[in-house]
Amino acid sequence: MKTGSVTIIGAGPAGLAAAAAAAPYATVTLLDENPGPGGQIWRAGAGTTTAAAELWEPARQAGAQWLGGCRVVAADAHALLLENATGAQRLPWEKLVLAPGARERFLPFPGWTLPGVLGAGGLQALVKNGLDIRGQRVMVAGSGPLLLAAAAFLRSQGAIIAGITEQATRRQLAGLAWASLVSPEKRKQASGLFRQLRGVPYLTHCWVEAAEVQESSHKNSGWLAAVRLRRGNRRWREPCDWLASGFGLAPNIELARLLGCALAPAAEGRPSSIAVDDFQLASQSNIWCAGEITGIGGLELSLLEGRIAGLAAAGQTALARRWLKARDRQRHFARALARAARLDAELRRLPGDETVICRCEDVPLGRLREYHSWREARLLGRCGMGACQGRICSDITGWLWNWQYDTTRPPVTPARISTLALMAANAEKASSSEFIL
Ligand SMILES: Cc1cc2nc3c(=O)[nH]c(=O)nc-3n(C[C@H](O)[C@H](O)[C@H](O)COP(=O)(O)OP(=O)(O)OC[C@H]3O[C@@H](n4cnc5c(N)ncnc54)[C@H](O)[C@@H]3O)c2cc1C
Repeated sequence: MKTGSVTIIGAGPAGLAAAAAAAPYATVTLLDENPGPGGQIWRAGAGTTTAAAELWEPARQAGAQWLGGCRVVAADAHALLLENATGAQRLPWEKLVLAPGARERFLPFPGWTLPGVLGAGGLQALVKNGLDIRGQRVMVAGSGPLLLAAAAFLRSQGAIIAGITEQATRRQLAGLAWASLVSPEKRKQASGLFRQLRGVPYLTHCWVEAAEVQESSHKNSGWLAAVRLRRGNRRWREPCDWLASGFGLAPNIELARLLGCALAPAAEGRPSSIAVDDFQLASQSNIWCAGEITGIGGLELSLLEGRIAGLAAAGQTALARRWLKARDRQRHFARALARAARLDAELRRLPGDETVICRCEDVPLGRLREYHSWREARLLGRCGMGACQGRICSDITGWLWNWQYDTTRPPVTPARISTLALMAANAEKASSSEFIL
């Protein structure tokens, strides 16, 4: 017999694993802003990849309900505010599993906002959604394993990978290789990626100092023309059509913060994550967190955390206990990954006073020097006040000056004014199952 209901936000590996684990024991609703389940790694446009279907199918057969194309824009202790393409809905919740994943982490350098400069995962997502990259020169730069995954995928779609630059030193990466000895899946993944990238230059302790724009006389005027690279004392120019750049990932913590969940202690300049206990329970009762929101650890850790959170939320702690050891082994690898991706302090010197830090509101670094905290920069300098609500620039100011992001307010994602207005007006009478507007 099923007891209680579990609402899961995010249908990536963590949310799907939570749904599959909880569905036999509780009434489960799984929701995601994307039309189909899969999350970042198993994204498949409007369809569902095989890996996602393998997790979703048993959950569906056990009665789990799917709410696709639904974004959570706000939440309180009783209900979620959802928005879809046509309307809004207030969805009451009893137990929540938060599995909203992570976003790419960007660091600024002159030219990082030029057209043609994208996140490594962002360019990968565009190509998965139909962008034709065949025959185009792509430079892949930044830090972390996502660079390899993105480069291998882009190459498989016909891109010419001009090179991959990793800011970490060879020594840092050796630590990661050592940690991966405990994980056969990671070893297999890494050797598979390097095989697919055979012949592509892979340079450690190397980074982009600036991106250059095409001249006004060129047919692609205004677009990226080349990157200037630096490795030790060597500096050179590399022409390219695209720069896929990313410095690891930053957990999507906003919803959890809005619901009052405490942060885990973070090393200086590193992105924050949500604190959880052994069973993935956050500091608020009835809220469990799984996947990248609790710290960046990759696919296997997300799956295990999701399974533990789903079982615990459905009241099956004895079953959840069986997976704790396997999860802790993956956490060991996640810690090694964090060490290996430690950013070189030299990268802080790349942006000049003219370099834009908040791209939504066009706030350059020079202007931010007048302020002493995230709050001050936000209130007086409009930093983080634009459409992304500081998702990108708060990570940057955290890295540059260790400013703490302490202003999570609803809506946590851009929302239609009508959603918010109608929600306020209808808060009392809105039915829990009907879209309004
Ligand atoms: C851009 C990007 C590309 C990546 N590419 C790769 C790769 O190629 N290979 C690899 O090994 N790893 C990749 N990763 C890492 C990989 O995503 C993770 O290791 C793993 O998928 C994490 O699983 P998760 O369930 O925690 O999060 P995710 O897979 O990110 O799933 C979270 C889901 O929650 C949804 N969501 C978030 N907020 C809301 C909201 N407010 N309302 C509704 N839905 C919401 C998101 O749309 C997403 O579908 C990538 C990560 C990113 C950010």
